[in-house]
Amino acid sequence: MNKQLLRAAALPLFALIAPDAAPAQNADRTERLRDAALEDDEVAYDIVEGLTTEIGPRLAGTAQEARAREWGVRKLKSLGFSNVHIETYQMPVWVRGEERAEIVAPFPQRLAVTALGNSGATPAAGLDAEVVGFDSLADLEAAPAAAVRGKIVFVSHGMTATQDGSQYGYYGAARRTGPSVASRKGAAAIVIRSIGTDHHRNPHTGVQIWSEGVSPIPAGALSVPDAEQLQRILKRGKKVTMRLTLTPRNIGMQEGGNVVAEVPGTDAKAGIVLIGGHLDSWDLGTGAIDNAAGVAITAAAAKRIMDAGRPRRTIRVVWFGAEEVGGNGDQAYRAAHGKEKIVFVSESDFGADRVWRMDPGFAPVNAALADRVAAALAPLGIARSTQAASGGADLGEWVQTGVAAIDLQQDGTRYFDYHHTPDDTLDKVDPEQLRQNVAAWTAMLSVVANAPEEIVPTKPAVPAP
Ligand SMILES: [Zn+2]
Repeated sequence: MNKQLLRAAALPLFALIAPDAAPAQNADRTERLRDAALEDDEVAYDIVEGLTTEIGPRLAGTAQEARAREWGVRKLKSLGFSNVHIETYQMPVWVRGEERAEIVAPFPQRLAVTALGNSGATPAAGLDAEVVGFDSLADLEAAPAAAVRGKIVFVSHGMTATQDGSQYGYYGAARRTGPSVASRKGAAAIVIRSIGTDHHRNPHTGVQIWSEGVSPIPAGALSVPDAEQLQRILKRGKKVTMRLTLTPRNIGMQEGGNVVAEVPGTDAKAGIVLIGGHLDSWDLGTGAIDNAAGVAITAAAAKRIMDAGRPRRTIRVVWFGAEEVGGNGDQAYRAAHGKEKIVFVSESDFGADRVWRMDPGFAPVNAALADRVAAALAPLGIARSTQAASGGADLGEWVQTGVAAIDLQQDGTRYFDYHHTPDDTLDKVDPEQLRQNVAAWTAMLSVVANAPEEIVPTKPAVPAP
């Protein structure tokens, strides 16, 4: 008999000695908790409203993020969580400066621009250079260095909205790697069409990390209408000169931190359910959909489980302090806690609109557990997908190393209208859809945290760093 069969054979025994944890009774409780959340949850909205109003923007590693951590501790304690604390780490911090772009010739006018994370700086008075346009990142990659050297590169390919947000991965490459490609070819600077799906004059910021050995150059994003304007100007066939002024700076190593809270379980041997999202935001908006919503949804659902009596497994909620700028929060967390018995992870970081799909990530021996979660979610209009859970930006590493997971996928149709812009504000959060999220998370946690069977890894354990 192999180990998995042994585990399976042990299940009915466990159910006998712990009758109140039996799946049928759990299903009734799950249904009650789910429907109550859908009806009356106010905790999640209260967190989003409070964080965006009392803190506002909270760029990782800044005083704003430190204030957000303190706010989070007070809030989670007041909600009744146990073991509420902050775990700090050091991280490099980049801050925005002046931002201005204008066409000098042939048709002088200003364009709406914002710097991308880790952008280099222009001189204070700006940098004047000819613009060379590319329809895609692939075109830039294929271009000879001579066509780019000394110029301001402009990459104009644009994403469209999809429910699953999948275009972000493909089109987002212009932001993530475009600046390094341009710098390597000797460009003076780069501006991209914002990675966004709106037509407002709000440029979308976002992180980009310089490739090994590449010198930073000024790197910005134009709003979508401004990018389309620049395309039309370039199409006139005249030499186009831009003056770009971006004066961000690196302020060195600073303190960041993760906020942790727990719902203690009754069975320490059953392992820990680790959930959460990132507390930090970009600096342009107040980070309502990215990601006050995610920290709010996960905490509100955990509180509902807590208020219904102790779950079997401890639920640990982590509000990661530095996701946007490169994942320093989750790296610090994994380094400190990688050896603990974390048996399940799930993250919320895609806005506040309704959950429409569940991506399960369980070992085959836990198929019945995945079935029970799917059944609990179905009445909320949530479909079960055949895609495996990824765990998201802050918890994906755990999934990579074989920890079981579920992704509750939110409707991303309008997410990239606001993502990383000044328009990411409270009014974009629909309280009714937010409650549906809390209901889905409550149902999932009720099933998973109380599951009587062992939750096993999806692959052999890989030692944590
Ligand atoms: Zn996010």
